[in-house]
Amino acid sequence: MRGTETYKNRIPIESLIFVNRNLRLSSIKMIGFDMDYTLAIYKYPDFEILAMEKTIERLVEKGYPAELFKGNFESGFLMRGLVVDKINGNILKLDKYNFVHRAMHGKRMLTYEERYSNYRNKKLDLFSEDFMWLDTLFSIPELAIIINAIDNIRNKKRFHFVKYSKLISDVRKCIDEVHQDNTLKQIVLSDIPKYIEYDPLLPPTLHRFKSNGKKLFLLTNSYWEYTNAVMSYLLSNRMREYKDWTGYFDIIIVGAKKPDFFNSNNMFYTVDVSNSQIKPLQTTIASFIKGIIYQGGNINDFERLSAIRGEQILYVGDHIYGDILSSKKRTLWRTCMIIPELEKEIKVSQENMKEIKSLNRMEMQSIILDRSLNLIKYNMKNEDGCDKSLRGDFEKLKRKHQRLIEAIKKKRDAISKKYNAEWGSLLREENELSKFGAQVEDYACIYTSKVSNFFHISPDQYLVSPPKLLPHELEIEELIR
Ligand SMILES: [Mg+2]
Repeated sequence: MRGTETYKNRIPIESLIFVNRNLRLSSIKMIGFDMDYTLAIYKYPDFEILAMEKTIERLVEKGYPAELFKGNFESGFLMRGLVVDKINGNILKLDKYNFVHRAMHGKRMLTYEERYSNYRNKKLDLFSEDFMWLDTLFSIPELAIIINAIDNIRNKKRFHFVKYSKLISDVRKCIDEVHQDNTLKQIVLSDIPKYIEYDPLLPPTLHRFKSNGKKLFLLTNSYWEYTNAVMSYLLSNRMREYKDWTGYFDIIIVGAKKPDFFNSNNMFYTVDVSNSQIKPLQTTIASFIKGIIYQGGNINDFERLSAIRGEQILYVGDHIYGDILSSKKRTLWRTCMIIPELEKEIKVSQENMKEIKSLNRMEMQSIILDRSLNLIKYNMKNEDGCDKSLRGDFEKLKRKHQRLIEAIKKKRDAISKKYNAEWGSLLREENELSKFGAQVEDYACIYTSKVSNFFHISPDQYLVSPPKLLPHELEIEELIR
């Protein structure tokens, strides 16, 4: 009876864990966590607005006119997973094949013709200096600054001297500076509840893993003082079983310098928590000691000292490059990506599922109709004196197809706007995955909106990926409908 009741009390869909590659949690011996935007979710938009203001202050100190950055933090223009074309000052949304679907200059979307002439016949070298990825949630304020500045350049003649690539590089430099020199951290630490979400399910989620025999580790790029303050807020004095937050973790590594952690020989240090001084870790030690705080290090020493390796480790992070792609490419670690935006994406998909299904169906019908039209056209060309009725059918079908294409476009735009007014869905672009969505699919074994979603499933769950329909199966499905 209890089992049935539990089954009926379904987990809310926005709290589910989604599976790209099957993962047996019972085989996982150790689970690692990133901190920023994984365990500690920053409050939107308070933190973003703070980062934006402090970065602009820094840019003005460096000589930029304050007027250049005038503009609001407007969420409709902002999304991560986008690429900046530094030469032309355009923001791009790509699909999984690097085809540019949307491009924005300031706050103006480029027309199809403009996109075509700029990007269609060129191979985009996204790893060159001319392009920059905005793939973390920390890049949202950066994008807001760039969009406002380029919009002001576009609209005001007096800013025409500003070179896009220099401006965009300087924005990146200044935002990095305010992160690294503690400008932002000091403000966050002065009022943590204002900037970081407290998730009451996080402590019991970690506790469940531990009481089920999993080892836990923290692997963050933040340094000791900041990590200690943020983690204390999230975990200390939240459960009787743990005196403070460090009790939840078997290994704690700060200042890890990911992604270098996964592909360098950086040495480990130990941190003296009384004064944050570090000293090199003796190379002769055989294993990590619980309670000691480590800094830096590399994957090879980590696996040797923890005596757990490869597929027995699940790493949970939010950064596609620093956490997920690097660990997936360089190690056998299993990966879980935290995507806080997923809750909204799911809500929109859920509210519009009827429309989305109807759109998919219309697109299948368009493919089938287009095939018939082309065949008739070919036959008409190759038959002498083709009969009038065939031509009549062709014209009728052609008009039907045209109407269908227009209806598809209208429906697709209407749905897309509900995810984000300008950029559509984070994970999709038309019928393809977005570049970001494709990276999630390629590198994240599982993904979910927040760590505490694990609270809703058994710590021994066999997470299985759902069946996917291939193109020929979709045709069959349409045929038998
Ligand atoms: Mg992070």
